[in-house]
This record gives sequence, C-alpha cells and structure tokens, in this order.
Amino acid sequence: QVSDFAQYPPINRGKLGRVPAGIPRKRSRIVVTGGAGFVGSHLVDKLLDRGDDVIVIDNFFTGRKENLVHRFGNPRFELIRHDVVEPILLEVDQIYHLACPASPVHYKYNPVKTIKTNVMGTLNMLGLAKRIGARFLLTSTSEVYGDPLEHPQKETYWGNVNPIGERSCYDEGKRTAETLAMDYHRGADVEVRIARIFNTYGPRMCLDDGRVVSNFVAQAIRKQPLTVYGDGKQTRSFQYVSDLVNGLVALMESEHVGPFNLGNPGEFTMLELAEVVKETIDSSATIEFRPNTADDPHKRKPDISKAKELLNWEPKISLREGLPLMVSDFQNRILNEDEGKGL
Ligand code: NAD
Ligand code: UDP
Ligand code: UDP
Repeated sequence: QVSDFAQYPPINRGKLGRVPAGIPRKRSRIVVTGGAGFVGSHLVDKLLDRGDDVIVIDNFFTGRKENLVHRFGNPRFELIRHDVVEPILLEVDQIYHLACPASPVHYKYNPVKTIKTNVMGTLNMLGLAKRIGARFLLTSTSEVYGDPLEHPQKETYWGNVNPIGERSCYDEGKRTAETLAMDYHRGADVEVRIARIFNTYGPRMCLDDGRVVSNFVAQAIRKQPLTVYGDGKQTRSFQYVSDLVNGLVALMESEHVGPFNLGNPGEFTMLELAEVVKETIDSSATIEFRPNTADDPHKRKPDISKAKELLNWEPKISLREGLPLMVSDFQNRILNEDEGKGL
C-alpha cells in the first residue's frame, strides 16, 4: 500500500555537512518534537539563540506551554499541537525527535500509547526525514541497557531488558525506535543520529513526574520527607540539562551516526543523592523508605569515551553545581501552585 505522502516528491538538497570555519552558518529550519517538554524546551532555547528557525511539535501530554511562553511572538518560532503518532507534512533541514514521556510514572500511565509514540511516532518522523532529506536525531535512552550486566555501560553493550515487564513499553519502544532509525539509515540513506541519554535534571522538569531528582527537590522545598525507594543503594548518574543539550547539538552537527551515550559519569546511590539534596536545600530534611518499583535497574553509569573522542563533548556541571540551578525554578512553581490553592 502506498502512503498518502508518496504523492509528494522527495526534496534533494544534498548533504548538509559542516560549514567551514570563517563562513557564516546557514540559518537552519529545525523541527523539535516534544519541544514543550523538559529537555526539548532547553534545546529550543539554544537553537533559537543561535539564530535558527524552530518548529515545535507537541501533544502536551507531559509538556507545557509555560516552558516556551518566553518565545511566543518570535517570528522564527512556531508551536504546533500535534501527536507524532499521526503523519505530518513539513519542510525542514533537521529533526530532533524527542516526543515521548520520559518519567516512569508518565510512560507507564498508558503503556500502549507509549509504544505507539515510540514506534509509529518515530516511523512518521523518519518517513518525513526521508521525504525531505532532513537529518534526524533520535533521543534514545540508557534504558536500552535494561538492568545492565556490564558496568559502566558502553555503546557496544546489547543490554539486559525484560520484554514483558512494566518498563518494557518504554525500554523496548526505544529499542525499536533505534532499530527503525538504523533501518532508514541503511535502507533509505536517511542521515540519522542516535543519542542514548542518561538521567538528566534541571529547571522545567515536571514537579510531580515521579523522577527521583524532581521528587527529592520538590519534597525538600515542601518540607516533606525524601522518599527513597528500596534500600537506596541502587545507583544512577545525573547529568545537568545544559550539558545534554550541548551534546545533542554536537551530535546532530557531527558526521557520526552513533549511538552515543550522553550522560555524566558521576555515579550516586539514591541515599547519596538525598544527602546532596539535603546539603543544597534543607539540612533538616528527613528520609522515608518506600518499596521499590518492579524491574528497577540496580546501577547505571555511562562510559562516555566515544562521545569524548568523536564529538569532543563531555559534561561540565557536577551534581553539586547543577542541583542549586534548579531550586529557584521549583520554588517559584511550588509557590504559584500553593497560591492557586489559596494556601
Ligand atoms: P518530557 O516528558 O518532559 O518531554 C516529552 C515531550 O514529548 C512532552 O512535551 C510531551 O508532551 C511530548 N510528547 C509525548 N508524547 C507525544 C506524542 N505522541 N506526540 C507529540 N508529543 C508528545 O521528557 P524529557 O525528559 O524532556 O525527555 C525528552 C526525550 O529525552 C524523551 O524522548 C526521553 O525518552 C528522552 N530521555 C530523557 C531522559 C531524561 O532523564 N530526561 C533520559 C533518557 C531519555
Ligand atoms: N510520513 C509523514 N510525513 C511525511 C512522509 C511520511 O508523516 O512527510 C509518514 C507516513 O505517513 C508513513 C511513515 O511516515 O506512515 C513512513 O513513511 P515512508 O515513506 O518511509 O513509508 P510508507 O509511506 O511506505 O509506509
Ligand atoms: N527513586 C527513589 N525515590 C523517588 C523516585 C525514584 O528512590 O521518589 C529511585 C528509583 O527507584 C530508581 C531511581 O530513583 O532506582 C531513579 O528513578 P527515576 O524514576 O528518576 O529514573 P529511572 O528509573 O528511569 O532511571
């Protein structure tokens, strides 16, 4: 069966390539799917600030207009309410494909929708990239490594993922998205880039998305106990959002397909993270233990040698430097929420 879009001829603009030093960069037209979300909105800021035209596609499942409101009225910025599960016609040079809920609470809320977003959404964006000859970057995840048997994780590791568990809609969805990207690359010559993102934090995270950093920071500000799941000895490696955005742009502009791990190798147990949050926000905060969720990976830490060598990228901001940078944003939003409730 031929899709409706077969009637639109492909556009052949040749390879984008790097602009040689000294020659002003061409202004690019860029789509950011999921651009109203946490990472997406910071990426949009960076692209607009360097002079590009940006179109955001978002269905506002976890994204918020507030994350982009400071850009409304900018003639180089467009925001389209659209679900990537449905096809769309656009003409751009690059596609950053971020649309997908990222926190376990959100992606488990409607797991079938999460799979549709990862599979049909990624297929549509790859079909779009193929038709218009755009470069396509997929934001995959460290979750493709599952509960890893190799530590730290290198890109060559194939992972240890439960195909039938509660996290599978996300983990397997992203694994399929990577497969699709590679098949479009090999079979249709689409210029793809794959980033495997490790836990990232910063301003504009949803207040109540259940992720550990947003939970602990909001709990400390609200004077509630920090909820540590399980024994708190499981580890994660936390990356500040501006480091990630720099990595995504470096990857998009590079000549390398990837996949590339983008994360901060600084590894912390959840109990250590709770201590850093206490030091940063409220030294009198208490800890409350809760049962852990199913299939929780025991440890996670990126090996970023590949990105260092080929993208000349590495994170600059440590957890102790980055956490304070999100506190005032959380304080303001929690205050507004309380005022809204008449507290
Ligand atoms: P987020 O939930 O803040 O942003 C996701 C955005 O996608 C939201 O604006 C949401 O409304 C939108 N969206 C979801 N489904 C959609 C659909 N079907 N159609 C259109 N829009 C849709 O999450 P984030 O932390 O900004 O994550 C962005 C991307 O990075 C995701 O693909 C995520 O899997 C990946 N990632 C993030 C992290 C992290 O720690 N933040 C880690 C690994 C991977
Ligand atoms: N697609 C899209 N916009 C486009 C081109 C394609 O949304 O500009 C969608 C299209 O609806 C299809 C998917 O991308 O479902 C894959 O397109 P492709 O051309 O690769 O495959 P086919 O149309 O043959 O399924
Ligand atoms: N976690 C926790 N307290 C919370 C939320 C999460 O101890 O309030 C733990 C969770 O069990 C996991 C780790 O923190 O071991 C990271 O969870 P998150 O949901 O942030 O990310 P992911 O599991 O996707 O890495």
